Amino acid sequence: MPNQQTLQDHFGRQINYLRLSVTDRCDFRCVYCMAEDMTFLPRAQVLTLEEMTELGHAFAELGVTKIRLTGGEPLVRRNVMQLVQQLGRIDNLDELTITTNGSRLASLVDRSKSASAASAEGQKQTTAQALKDAGVKRLNISLDTLGAAQFKELTRTGELDTVVKGIDAARAAGFERIKLNAVVMKNRNADQVCELVQFALERDLDITFIEEMPLGQITEHGRKELLCTSAEIRQSLSQSFELVSSDARSGGPARYWTVSSKSAAASETGEHYSSRIGFISPHSDNFCASCNRVRVTAEGRLLLCLGNENSVDLKAVMRANPGDREKLKQTIIDAMGNKPERHHFYDDGAEQIVRFMNATGG
Ligand code: SAM
Repeated sequence: MPNQQTLQDHFGRQINYLRLSVTDRCDFRCVYCMAEDMTFLPRAQVLTLEEMTELGHAFAELGVTKIRLTGGEPLVRRNVMQLVQQLGRIDNLDELTITTNGSRLASLVDRSKSASAASAEGQKQTTAQALKDAGVKRLNISLDTLGAAQFKELTRTGELDTVVKGIDAARAAGFERIKLNAVVMKNRNADQVCELVQFALERDLDITFIEEMPLGQITEHGRKELLCTSAEIRQSLSQSFELVSSDARSGGPARYWTVSSKSAAASETGEHYSSRIGFISPHSDNFCASCNRVRVTAEGRLLLCLGNENSVDLKAVMRANPGDREKLKQTIIDAMGNKPERHHFYDDGAEQIVRFMNATGG
């Protein structure tokens, strides 16, 4: 094995986490994430699965221990399971995880195409099970509301029922610590937070509430006006739940609380839940000092920060120097010097981020 190196930026932060966007395409059009009428990247501009695998190896040799596949919707990428299997075999990777909208987790795939069963021709299994067998450790599933009509309104094209079935399929596949992600907006889904927590508690899921970030120009609502802060969400939750601040960290920006129900029935039985309630607060609680991650977009741009436009074109390096992993690694090492100290969402005079989240890799 080549010498293990590490990635460090100018502010002394160790980078050990890569979020890799496998496509900018998505079967949903969430109102805060993208425009209704999107133009997606031409296929030739998107990294091949082989290039993504090569990136996985290069980053792992540079000390990255966790890769999260994201998008767009990662599960709409054709043959994504092959990529998952390849990355799942990288020795020094501790965690391969996926963020998904859940719409395909319950779909059946041929078992003979999954990692587990060479002799299972013709037998079917859920996509969730195939991901688990291929080495995916944890799943994050986005769910902003439990109202079917509101779900349609927020995702524009999604069906709540399919996603709930996807969550059930993930639970049946035996993933540990499945986490729901909900972006919360005033006057849209802010009234859903208690129901979402109840849903998570009953299924032993973690849930994280995210403050909406100004990535890309949307027309449906004013992001700043609808911003619902983590403190406001906790205030709403405190009417139904007893929240206890916890030291738990996921190695990411979320801060966690545990919870017990305030309902009389629950306290009589001494009900206690293992679910963690997380809050990602890019506006109200800047977390950049502990940033340990970088992103690679589906077209191979290495983004050093979610809230800054500067990037390095890794696809160009790979295509100009095929098979030269050392060159790729050196480019990544050199790029660390450009990782900014922090994002500047909503700061006066801050540059507007033109990338939508689906192009960034959420
Ligand atoms: N399609 C997958 C999904 O739905 O989870 C993965 C990609 S999606 C871009 C990843 C996460 O980013 C989702 O949880 C989504 O809610 C969140 N997201 C998208 N746009 C956002 C924004 N402007 N601010 C905050 N979170 C956002």
